[in-house]
Amino acid sequence: MCPVCRARFRGTSVCSRCGADLTVLMTLAAAAWRLRQAARQALAAGEFAHARDLAAQAQHICSTPAGKGLEGLGAWLSGSLFGPSGKVELREEAIS
Ligand SMILES: [Zn+2]
Repeated sequence: MCPVCRARFRGTSVCSRCGADLTVLMTLAAAAWRLRQAARQALAAGEFAHARDLAAQAQHICSTPAGKGLEGLGAWLSGSLFGPSGKVELREEAIS
């Protein structure tokens, strides 16, 4: 999305509606894409914590719903959603 006029981002370096220079935006989006590619490769290699870290970096640069899912998948597979013990902890008040 164009940060000036909020027109849909069409992958060009100049906004088709307002003419704003989107080069920096494209550079950041490409950097996030490369990080997500690396995260997918890390997932395939079984390096789940590394995948989660790469996906989290990508989200800081350029957040997308799919990127959030990738980060969540890496976090789940690496066990970091369940605390350092790797177990789901139930609290008494949650089950009573
Ligand atoms: Zn624009």
